[in-house]
Amino acid sequence: MSPLSIGIVGAGPAGCFAAQALSKDFMDAEITILDRLPVPFGLLRYGVAADHQGTKAVQHQFERLFSRPNVEFVGGLDYGRDVDLDRLRSIFDVVVLATGAPDDRRLGVEGETLEGVIGAGRLTRALNSHPEAGAELPVVLPRVGIVGSGNVAADLLRLLSKTSVEWDGSDMDDALLHQILPRPVTEVHLISRSDAVEARWDAAMLRELASLKRPRFQVLTGSIGSRGSPEADALRELVAARSEPTDLSINLHFACVVEQVLGRDRVEGIRIRSHTGLRKDLPVDTVLTAIGFEPRPVETVPPRVYRTGWLRTGPQGTIPAQRTLSKQLALEIARDLRSGLIQPGRPGCAALPAGRTTNFAGWRRIDAYERAQAVEQRVRLKISDIETLYAVGQDANLAVAPARGTSK
Ligand SMILES: Cc1cc2nc3c(=O)[nH]c(=O)nc-3n(C[C@H](O)[C@H](O)[C@H](O)COP(=O)(O)OP(=O)(O)OC[C@H]3O[C@@H](n4cnc5c(N)ncnc54)[C@H](O)[C@@H]3O)c2cc1C
Repeated sequence: MSPLSIGIVGAGPAGCFAAQALSKDFMDAEITILDRLPVPFGLLRYGVAADHQGTKAVQHQFERLFSRPNVEFVGGLDYGRDVDLDRLRSIFDVVVLATGAPDDRRLGVEGETLEGVIGAGRLTRALNSHPEAGAELPVVLPRVGIVGSGNVAADLLRLLSKTSVEWDGSDMDDALLHQILPRPVTEVHLISRSDAVEARWDAAMLRELASLKRPRFQVLTGSIGSRGSPEADALRELVAARSEPTDLSINLHFACVVEQVLGRDRVEGIRIRSHTGLRKDLPVDTVLTAIGFEPRPVETVPPRVYRTGWLRTGPQGTIPAQRTLSKQLALEIARDLRSGLIQPGRPGCAALPAGRTTNFAGWRRIDAYERAQAVEQRVRLKISDIETLYAVGQDANLAVAPARGTSK
């Protein structure tokens, strides 16, 4: 019988974990993971913060996966532009869509289109050297409003606060950071719709903030309250850690909503209203929204097509959650194989449209090149230009030793 051909669209954590689970459960299957970008890993590369290299280490698992002879990476193929669902269904016995949810959620208040309002997704992509961020880099001025109190908001607090030495061991591109943050941030107002005990960030993220050199944290609106939770305890410790004024004050406003972003052409302030009805105008010149991402419109999924990751669940859930989803996906596919819904026999990867694409060997070259370019105290210098990504990925003269445990 012909081997099962599986095409996975999107090489982010969800697509990679799906491939991992499927290659384990269907050992003979030929698996192709394609991505619109010439490089794999989605938000693992372009969302997870530069100083969280531990989180990024899951990449090594994925690299071992790509090195298997029956798993291919095809970078530079855009689903929707280069290949559509009907074509994918004619090429693969099983199609898995894992294209994520990249668009920042809108604030939905007056003034949100003013210059200086920047979505967290857009900002973190730019800070992570995303190749499509370059044309118009966002600029963050010294007085910042952050809307939201989840882990992405905590990431932003850390990113805005760190001094150069605090980036040691990261893959932060300092030149890019200076373009985005031309002057040090001096004042942050974080506005949280929920009260302090219900904020969605993790205690570990707050503890990490406590170790930073510059900021002093204070609660300006609402209170932390006495009800205990690990997050509230961590927040209390964060606020208690420093009482003297510093050159960066981070002011927390709990149980507040944003009513309006103020300004004529660009941001000049933000109007907030507490749950008790009290209004305040805060003087900020940049507003960062960290309130989640727009769910992608749900496509009707015909037989033999599955969804996973943020495309399936909506934009919530961590990287480990994608691993759990992938096991569920493998079970669904096994059930459909048993029932005869899936009949193997389609050609797989070889039938994909030709184009300017990269493969796993190309990614290995890009990876090695970026590591070789790293300046002192940084682990890599990411290529942020799409043409250079392709050029390095396709330059067969760049000999790259295989990574530990890989064979391709
Ligand atoms: C700023 C930020 C920081 C985060 N930090 C952490 C963290 O520290 N720890 C943690 O556990 N989780 C973190 N997360 C959550 C984590 O990133 C997600 O759980 C995970 O990335 C979701 O995986 P995904 O594969 O569904 O989506 P994505 O990671 O977005 O991957 C989608 C992939 O699909 C590709 N794609 C999109 N459209 C197309 C198309 N048309 N054709 C082909 N390919 C396409 C994209 O290029 C991308 O590679 C963070 C999220 C954000 C936004």
